[in-house]
Amino acid sequence: MSNKIKFEIDGKECQSEEGKYLVDAAKENGIYIPTLCNYEGLKPKGSCRICTVRINGRLATACTSPVHEGMKIENNTPELNEVRKEIIELLFVSGNHFCPACEKSGNCELQALAYRFQMMAPRFPFAFPQKEVDASYPRIIKEQNRCILCKRCIRGIKDERGRSYFAFRNRGRRSLVVADRKMMAEMSLEKAKEAMAICPVGSILVREKGWDEPIGTRKYDNAPIGSEIEKHPNA
Ligand code: SF4
Repeated sequence: MSNKIKFEIDGKECQSEEGKYLVDAAKENGIYIPTLCNYEGLKPKGSCRICTVRINGRLATACTSPVHEGMKIENNTPELNEVRKEIIELLFVSGNHFCPACEKSGNCELQALAYRFQMMAPRFPFAFPQKEVDASYPRIIKEQNRCILCKRCIRGIKDERGRSYFAFRNRGRRSLVVADRKMMAEMSLEKAKEAMAICPVGSILVREKGWDEPIGTRKYDNAPIGSEIEKHPNA
């Protein structure tokens, strides 16, 4: 007997397992809910708020909300898309994101979301913070100007004993993601590549290597973010 439950997203009837996180349940039904701090296989945090939806009328983050029978969810509405656009604009002005000069251009989730939500000039003033490019680690370069503090690297890049290579330092406007020097001295090339891949922006780069693919052929150069989910409704 199927244990699937039914719920609605923007009026479309959907099915999934009881308790599955909404972002994943929506994906199963061919519906894209945008996220930034969420990453497959990692415990969701709901910190970036890009995946904010309305569940039975109340605002909630879709990556941390489990689905239940009969839920009515609003996702692709002008109100919610405007909130998402505003968050993306805030992220752009809080750092120094110069897409044409970034190795992750075309593979960057923040840039791809800005295109999706048709961001032009942000409505907020640019802060142009003074941040460092830390090239002192043997395997990676940590470009603090591009870090959006999503913690994906902290949650996902660990050694065989479960210790994180990365950690938060300072608070508020002075927050930084730094790496443990001892662990970094022993980081393998594979782990460095994993760290570069888990970072949604170009804040972690493998040293001595430019991006492998030429501009114009990268992930989001030809297919907008989310389109792979929307193209395959029952994937
Ligand atoms: S380095 Fe990348 S993955 Fe880590 S917190 Fe910053 S943006 Fe997120």
